[in-house]
Amino acid sequence: MAFSSTPVRSEDLATCISCGLCLNDCPTYRVLGDEADSPRGRIQLIRTVIASPAAPSETTVEHLEACLVCRACETACPSGVPFGRIMEGAREVLRERQDGGALARTALDTVARPRRLALAARLADIGARLGLARLAARLLPGRLGWAASLAAPAEGPPFRGVDREDADVSVFAGCIMRESFGDTERATVRLLERDGHVVSVPEEQTCCGALHAHAGDGERARQLARYNIDAFSGSDGKIVVNAAGCGAHLKDYGHVLGDDPFWADRAKGFAARVRDVSEVVKPAPARTTRAIRVVYQDACHLAHGQRIRAQPRALLRAIEGVVLVDIEDAERCCGSAGIYNLTHPEISRELQQDKVRKIIEASPDVIVSANPGCILQVAAGLRAAGSRARVVHLARFLDDPDLAAAGDP
Ligand code: SF4
Ligand code: SF4
Repeated sequence: MAFSSTPVRSEDLATCISCGLCLNDCPTYRVLGDEADSPRGRIQLIRTVIASPAAPSETTVEHLEACLVCRACETACPSGVPFGRIMEGAREVLRERQDGGALARTALDTVARPRRLALAARLADIGARLGLARLAARLLPGRLGWAASLAAPAEGPPFRGVDREDADVSVFAGCIMRESFGDTERATVRLLERDGHVVSVPEEQTCCGALHAHAGDGERARQLARYNIDAFSGSDGKIVVNAAGCGAHLKDYGHVLGDDPFWADRAKGFAARVRDVSEVVKPAPARTTRAIRVVYQDACHLAHGQRIRAQPRALLRAIEGVVLVDIEDAERCCGSAGIYNLTHPEISRELQQDKVRKIIEASPDVIVSANPGCILQVAAGLRAAGSRARVVHLARFLDDPDLAAAGDP
């Protein structure tokens, strides 16, 4: 049954008072320098789109599609504009009026289909291990070469958790995390067990639907949300997630299904149970065998989407031997942004290079982040710049800092 969950609400649009305080914090405005590529400009364009049933102009679509949905404007905004929700609604309106493009469609289809995703992850892993991805990155022109540069070997075998009835916490394993970040998933379970939790990984769960919502495929996003709510209905304990993009979206299921009378209450109940792993894991008195300089890279959907900044840093500082070093503009998007690095490679590369430059200035041994897209994007940028610093997920680093800091980048 089709219920529109993310219409552009006029009361949301009305919260923008056009003050412009968000402009300098918007990565695309900084890169493109056009008011129409700023939060204020995009809100104005969305008002125009909503006011008419006609198909929007190509230029309007370009400005709206160029948004990273990084939500940095929400942090900067004094008026509480729910920009992420507005943009998801606007993209859904765009998709109703015109197709979103073959590349985005293929990527979204792949993450929502476990078998297809497993195959794609396996191929990317083999390509990266055999050095084919690096070769392709050097030899292939344009978008293909750029896409190949992002491929990295998978972290060990895919993660297949255990569905347990006696658990007090459940883990949302995600789609890409499960296939390509197996070691991080296993580390997440170990950290929770170390704190005394009994952990379940419900078997029937699927992709959270965040990428679909960002791209305007609202119907698929709602289907996936309903599927996950059912999959986690066997208990009422916390649902722990280690991917920032998934976490922000899971916490928003109350809005995603807010207009669906059959699911709205269940969706709110589900969302209230969701926690990022850094909100649950307790600081542990660990000690590294040598001093490790760590840059913590804020994932947009953790910092701006969930307002989680202090907890990961506190967990890192609790480890004796970790030297946490700040970087300039730590909260600015690295350019990954879901499938944005595939659909907008030029802007993505510029943001990636800016991030990498600032990281290298801090001379870290390890970069710790909380989102798979950021990890791949920053690691690819560092490789291209000749850096040997490693990029790992927070859970993996907390689980064994020495091991996470060792090995090839
Ligand atoms: S979500 Fe990010 S890219 Fe989009 S308008 Fe806001 S700050 Fe700019
Ligand atoms: S989004 Fe917020 S900060 Fe930006 S112009 Fe509107 S009210 Fe001002």
